[in-house]
Amino acid sequence: MPTIAIVGAGMAGLHLALHLQKEGLGVSLYEERTPDEIRAGRLPSTVALSPPTRARQRALGVAHWEGAEHATGVVRMRVAADPPLGFVGHPPDHMLFIDMRVYLPRLLEDFAARGGRVVKASLDAAGVRDLAAGHDLVVVATGCAGLSDLFPRVPERSPHAGPQRRLFAGIVRGLRMPERLEFMFQLSPGHGEIFENQYLTLGGVAPALLIEAIPGGALEPITRMRYEDDPARFDAALLDAVLAHAPLTAERVDRARFGVASPRDYLTGAVTPLVRRAYAPLGGGRFALALGDLHITHDPIMGQGANMATLAAWLAAERIAGQAAAGAAFDEAFCADLEDRLWEALRPATEWTNAFLLPPPDHALALLAAASRSQSLADAFATNFSYPDRQWAILSSPDATARFIASHA
Ligand SMILES: Cc1cc2nc3c(=O)[nH]c(=O)nc-3n(C[C@H](O)[C@H](O)[C@H](O)COP(=O)(O)OP(=O)(O)OC[C@H]3O[C@@H](n4cnc5c(N)ncnc54)[C@H](O)[C@@H]3O)c2cc1C
Repeated sequence: MPTIAIVGAGMAGLHLALHLQKEGLGVSLYEERTPDEIRAGRLPSTVALSPPTRARQRALGVAHWEGAEHATGVVRMRVAADPPLGFVGHPPDHMLFIDMRVYLPRLLEDFAARGGRVVKASLDAAGVRDLAAGHDLVVVATGCAGLSDLFPRVPERSPHAGPQRRLFAGIVRGLRMPERLEFMFQLSPGHGEIFENQYLTLGGVAPALLIEAIPGGALEPITRMRYEDDPARFDAALLDAVLAHAPLTAERVDRARFGVASPRDYLTGAVTPLVRRAYAPLGGGRFALALGDLHITHDPIMGQGANMATLAAWLAAERIAGQAAAGAAFDEAFCADLEDRLWEALRPATEWTNAFLLPPPDHALALLAAASRSQSLADAFATNFSYPDRQWAILSSPDATARFIASHA
C-alpha cells in the first residue's frame, strides 16, 4: 500500500488526511503547531462552512457541531444606495460559522485518535523533497503563505496582481446578537463590505465582524491600525466604521462597550488572490501536489477558500485512493489529470470571487434589486452562496442573470 505525506493540518490537509485514513492508506501528517498551540493562537479567519462542506465532514465522521444552536440559516443583505436595497434570504440548509481555533485542533486530535501519524515539524522546500524518499506522494497544504515557491503562479488564471481588499476580522464585544443566528452582508459602494456573523469560539457563540476595505476608501484606515498600540483608539475607529458603513450592525451596538474582544481575537492584512500550479516534481520520479490555499488563494469576500479547500481535498482523496487501489504510480500524468479536475471543480468559485472584487456590474445590482422585491429570488440567491457553480453560472453574464430573475417573476 502506498504511503502519503501531507504537510499542513489546515482545512485542506486535515480533510485529506481523514479521508485517506478512512480509505486505509498510510498517511503521515506534518504540522508545525500542536492542537494546543493552534487553540492558543491568534484569530486566523472568520470562516463560514457551507452545507456541502458540512456534508463532507459528516461523511468523514468529524461533524462535532451539528446542533441547531450553532447553525446560521438567515442571510441578510443590505446595499447602501438611494434608496437602499435589502433583503433577507432563508437557505434550506444552514451554514456553520466556526473559529478555526476550535475546528482544526479537534480534527487533528480525531486523526491522531484513529491511529494517524502526526509529526510536529516545520518543513522548508528541502524538507519536502526529503519526504519524497520515504513516501509515494507528498501533498503540500501549508496555506497561502507557506512553501509557495515550489508551485509557480498561473498568470492566465490569476487576474489580480495584488490584494484587492485590505482586511479586518475580529470577534467583538458590545454588540447584541440577533435572536436567531444571521449572516449579514453590508455593501458600501466605493468603501467595501462589512460582514457580521455569530461565531462559535472557544468561549461559546460570539459576534464577529469582517471588513473588506477597498484600498483608498473610508474603511481602509482600521485595517492598517494595531489594537495593541492604542486599544481605545482602535475600538473608536472600529465603532466609527460600523456606524458609518454597517447600519444593520450599528442598530445593535452598545457604544460604551463596543470593541475587539481581546488582542488575540482580531486580524488585519490582505491576501493576493491567485492560482498556482497544482503539482511540482521532487526528483526521482516523485511529485508534490499543492492543495487548499496554496493551490488557489481566494480573497475571503465570498467565503469560498475553506469550502473549496475541503472540496479539493475530497476530490484529491478519491483520486489518490483510486490510484492506490489500481496499484498505479503517482506520476506526472496522475498529477496533471488531478490538476485539471481540481480546476474544473474550483474554477466557478475562483472566477466569481475574483470578479466580485471589482465594482459590482449593473446586472449584479439588478439581481439584488429584484431579490429585494421577490422572496423566492432572495432565498435562491442566499442559497447559491454555498453553491458557487450555480451562483457563477447566474452572475457571469447579463443574459444569465436576466433569465434567472425572469424565472422567479
Ligand atoms: C478573514 C478571513 C475570513 C475567511 N472566511 C472564510 C469563509 O467564510 N469561508 C471560507 O470557506 N473560507 C474563508 N476564509 C479562507 C480560509 O480561511 C482559507 O481558505 C482556509 O483556511 C485554507 O485552508 P488551508 O488548509 O489551505 O490552509 P491553512 O488553513 O492556512 O492551513 C495551513 C496549515 O499548514 C501549517 N503550516 C504552514 N506552513 C507549514 C510548514 N512549513 N510546515 C508545516 N506546517 C505548516 C499551518 O500551521 C496550518 O495549520 C477566510 C479567510 C480569512 C483570512
